[in-house]
Amino acid sequence: MLHAAGPLLTVDVSTQTSERTAIDTVLERFIGGRGVGTALAHERVPFDADPFGPENSLFFTTGPMQASTMSFTGRMNCTGISPQTDRLLSSNAGGFMSRNFAATGNAAVEITGQSDELLIVHVTDGGVEFEAVPELEDATVPEVTTYIDETHGLSSEHVACIGPAGERRVRFASIMTTESRAFGRGGLGAVLGAKNVKAITFDGDSSPDLEVPSIQMDVHRDAATSDHIMKRQGTTSVTDLANEVEALPTRYFSELSFEGVEGINGDAVEDRKYTRGTCSACAFACKLPTKDDERGVETEGPEYETVMSFGSNCAVDDIVDVMQSNELCDRYGMDTITCGNVVAAYLASEDEFGNVELIHDLVADIAHRDGVGDRLAEGIERFHEDLEVENWTVKGLDFAAHDGRTLHGQGLSYAVANRGADHMFSTMYAWEYPLVDADDALEPTGLEGKPAVVIEQENARALEDCGIVCRFSRSFMTPDRFEGLFDAEYESLLEVGSRVVTLERHFNSRRGFDRDDDSLPYDLPGFENALDEYYDHRGWARDGTVGTSHATEILADD
Ligand code: SF4
Repeated sequence: MLHAAGPLLTVDVSTQTSERTAIDTVLERFIGGRGVGTALAHERVPFDADPFGPENSLFFTTGPMQASTMSFTGRMNCTGISPQTDRLLSSNAGGFMSRNFAATGNAAVEITGQSDELLIVHVTDGGVEFEAVPELEDATVPEVTTYIDETHGLSSEHVACIGPAGERRVRFASIMTTESRAFGRGGLGAVLGAKNVKAITFDGDSSPDLEVPSIQMDVHRDAATSDHIMKRQGTTSVTDLANEVEALPTRYFSELSFEGVEGINGDAVEDRKYTRGTCSACAFACKLPTKDDERGVETEGPEYETVMSFGSNCAVDDIVDVMQSNELCDRYGMDTITCGNVVAAYLASEDEFGNVELIHDLVADIAHRDGVGDRLAEGIERFHEDLEVENWTVKGLDFAAHDGRTLHGQGLSYAVANRGADHMFSTMYAWEYPLVDADDALEPTGLEGKPAVVIEQENARALEDCGIVCRFSRSFMTPDRFEGLFDAEYESLLEVGSRVVTLERHFNSRRGFDRDDDSLPYDLPGFENALDEYYDHRGWARDGTVGTSHATEILADD
């Protein structure tokens, strides 16, 4: 089975030391990415670690094809205990850093400890250097990347960094790379901030010498010649459909469609798109560099999720206002989904929907923990009672934009996902929208038969996260291409995905979480039975936990 290659590099920022450890067995068993991060966390992070404590680690991990020219592989994984969900969480970012990471010769880089001074950690194929950077305190993401470019000659494609939000431990702070790409969900930027690490750079010339089968060229060609609508509108191409079927959260989740959708839909984004945007080596190029010359706004995106969080959920019907919110989040280093939903919650409490000036002020206040921003920086689960608004979260993570009250299988997925109310954990929504090209589309209503489908999809997504293959490769990365590329039966590859989901659940079980945490703030018909069915299919206990013997079996060498 094809898997990532190279050692684990552990960087302890408390002692400013580093060491390399061979992790071949872990790589063989988990391929790379999220699986390797999850397995390493089991070995190296105490189950009761404080997300902000020195004993929590961040594991940056790559897959086997990050040094190839294959489309859909310009991505990276980061795993750690999330300060937003308090659970083990993996987050995935696109951009261009993955190639530079692979060039350091490491399969995984662990950042652990806690520094006394603000640092940049420079990782190369020759070793690790630590640079104290007190002058970068409070610097924005573009300020950090400009500094590194000017002082070290490394472009933003070599950099993972945080903005002021990460330094101030905003619980949904991102780790940013290539300036506009984010390890977004779950607040891993705040973990880096708690370690007093402002940035990590990756550079080298020691990419692993792996032969990727020639199928990669077929994938690349098909991606280049496809006329898929995502190449024009990215994820925003789904906006009108979601609105039509009433799956577009609006006015802090109180409505399911938005009367102002035309101002923020895929066409509105495409109108502001000024060039193609991509991740390294990806011929699909679905990214969205946008600008509005009249108002002087330039950003990358917004993606569909941000169109919801800062658009319909805040009752904002002008895409340029959403673009501006997107740009502010990137600049300060915050997840655009959570930040928009947090702002929407505040607007609900103050009856201020549509107040764009307030929205943009709040984004800056949250990033700096100024005034009410200090409370909002804690996330909806922690402030909703104070603000007397509903708690639209699962496991502390606020909902993504494909509403589970309409797409019931997606609702079940939000409830059970180890990461909380996150759409990428299974992408179950894709089977429940009435899309013309989906022969195997499911009725959106009802949960009958869906637990098994949710599991299948979760396993397939976890496999993508281990191999570091982008979610949007679905039409191109067929099971037979997975088999050809990874040199294994598709069923055994899915088994890797399944192991990873179970291992994550075990880690979270050890932190005291169970079935009570797999719950929704709304009712779905047959939900409790569907939960039983889901646990039974997974081989988990009916209380939603995974025992240590099960995890030990998964981690054991064959
Ligand atoms: S499909 Fe889009 S997000 Fe995925 S790797 Fe290609 S450009 Fe990046």
